[in-house]
Amino acid sequence: MSGTLLELRGAIRRYDAGEQEILALRGIDLDICAGEMVALMGVSGSGKSTLMNILGCLDKLSEGTYRIDGQDVAALRADQLALLRRANFGFVFQRYNLLSQLSAVANVEIPAIYAGRDAATRRPHARALLERLGLGERLASRPTQLSGGQQQRVSIARALMNGGRVILADEPTGALDSCTGHEVMDLLLELNRLGHTLIIATHDPAVAAYAHRIVEFADGRIVSDRPAPESRPALAAAEPMPTIAQGEAPSPNESEAAPWARLAEAAHMAVLALLIHRLRTALTLLGVVIGIVSVVTMVALGEAAQRSLADDLKGLTTNTLEIYPGKDWGDPDQLRIQTLVASDVEALRRQSYVKEASPVVAQSTSLRYRSLNGSGSVNGVSGGYFAAVGLPIEQGSTFDRSDIDRKAQVVVIDSNVKLRFFGSTDPLGATIYVGKLPCVVIGVTGHNYQQESRGGSRLNVWVPYTTAGARLLGRSHLDSIVIALRDGEAPQLAEDRLTPLMIKRHRVKDFMVLNLAERIRSGVALFETMSLLLATIGVISLTVGGVGVMNIMLVSVVERSREIGVRVAVGARQSDIRCQFLIESVLVCLIGAALGVALSYAICVVTRYFLPPKWEMWLSPSAVTTAVVTATLTGVIFGYAPARNAARLDPVEALARD
Ligand code: ADP
Ligand code: MG
Repeated sequence: MSGTLLELRGAIRRYDAGEQEILALRGIDLDICAGEMVALMGVSGSGKSTLMNILGCLDKLSEGTYRIDGQDVAALRADQLALLRRANFGFVFQRYNLLSQLSAVANVEIPAIYAGRDAATRRPHARALLERLGLGERLASRPTQLSGGQQQRVSIARALMNGGRVILADEPTGALDSCTGHEVMDLLLELNRLGHTLIIATHDPAVAAYAHRIVEFADGRIVSDRPAPESRPALAAAEPMPTIAQGEAPSPNESEAAPWARLAEAAHMAVLALLIHRLRTALTLLGVVIGIVSVVTMVALGEAAQRSLADDLKGLTTNTLEIYPGKDWGDPDQLRIQTLVASDVEALRRQSYVKEASPVVAQSTSLRYRSLNGSGSVNGVSGGYFAAVGLPIEQGSTFDRSDIDRKAQVVVIDSNVKLRFFGSTDPLGATIYVGKLPCVVIGVTGHNYQQESRGGSRLNVWVPYTTAGARLLGRSHLDSIVIALRDGEAPQLAEDRLTPLMIKRHRVKDFMVLNLAERIRSGVALFETMSLLLATIGVISLTVGGVGVMNIMLVSVVERSREIGVRVAVGARQSDIRCQFLIESVLVCLIGAALGVALSYAICVVTRYFLPPKWEMWLSPSAVTTAVVTATLTGVIFGYAPARNAARLDPVEALARD
């Protein structure tokens, strides 16, 4: 026999059980050599399982040292311990601890997955092991479809998967009838003959009798350590166990190869877990779907509103101010105030910040050209009006100084009038009747959004304001003044400077200033507030969905603690466990995102029938991206705490739970 493999010195394990502390191990010295078959025997509660967990690196000593191959395990980090477990130990439990959702082969494969082997190597090896142990017919069976003896043989195959240098069997026959129990013990004996070190914990002397050495336990102490009186001769080992080719055996410097295999395993387990609890998954999904739908439709709605607003702003001249009579909006005296006059315009025009100012008088009127009639509105303005409001002159010209001074009977018509009265013929020089006043057409305007939004297809004509005042309306006060500001002048500042000037001229504030830029800005601000509100609603719904995910994941971790314990025992790293649960929550969220996007698409299609065309909602790539990104983030954020809980679970405790 070779040298000492496992070495315990002064091993003490204490448990804090409320006020009193329990000493499960009270100072144990034990050496186990490679190739031994040792039975740890003692009554229930004597500390056998505690010792097994220590030996298998699932648990740590409170005091004393434990060396494997001369290496002190106390100094090792969690991942190094996981590596040690993978490389050296195979666990066989009293209650088999197979994962019920996996087939026999898949159960046997698990340790190799965490050792980073690819499917092409591990799958045939798992099959070969099961066939060698007489389960060739039951490869695809679930644990529940197997007898106790068969399940225990599957778990032995699992213990051998990574080599099984040391096999730790804690009451391996405890749940079996005596006949099956002896079969299992024969198998373990055979493994010992093939070179595996075996440590078996049992309370049953008949089981202990298989071993070559019996270490008897009582109350956390070794009371005797002797060779078995008549150890059973092992049956002649007929066939060796299948082994993985030398070069592929797990080595301490096992590379982090095949992380994809571990990821794929995690994803596979996540899908299985979701499928097992379909109703629960569906309800969790519902929360996420609602969240995603609100986020996506909010984004789509926001974009639609933005498009519509951009439409409204198009062509709008924002660098203008308009002055109207009246103390404020809705002043009942507005119509009686007659103080807005042409000299105000002259005064304003002299201000440094004013580029152009024009008086405006307006009235509805009848229009006539030869035998054609129409009704529209006539506006008295100055020549600068058109430039001030951004109305292009497409043909001819506007009024000049002398037209204003002479109260000339000239008119500028808009494209609607041109279309109605002149069709495709040239209107310049023709005479039309504005009310009863004959005027010569000198110009035609083009389109302008502001004009359109105020009148659509109405007929508009413009005459000099002096002409309108004297010859059409018989008054000299104005309806409003339009001011175009110089480029770069801030409308608000201009308004602040213009107001005192006008008050000084009128001695009272009997006018009001329409600052269109300000209006638009407050409109945009309102819209931005709305968008923010909508986005907040989306985020809140998604948060609620995320909390649902977290809730379910926390429950799931508790429910599956035994599974987690098994995985850790066969060598899973903490990161493997964390990854598995994170993938599960991200998967739920991504499925939710896919359903949510589909539902949002349906909503967009349906709303097209109800909303005005310019509010039409589209699922833009940005909305879909938002959905996927927020879903992933939700999964990670709300899955993080449960996944961390799972990874931090104490494997001994986890295995002890039901
Ligand atoms: P055996 O496997 O020989 O039946 P155990 O190793 O399971 O014995 O337990 C040894 C002693 O340690 C028992 O008295 C038991 O109550 C105690 N013990 C085991 N696990 C815990 C624990 N997690 N917390 C408190 N006491 C424990
Ligand atoms: Mg026990």
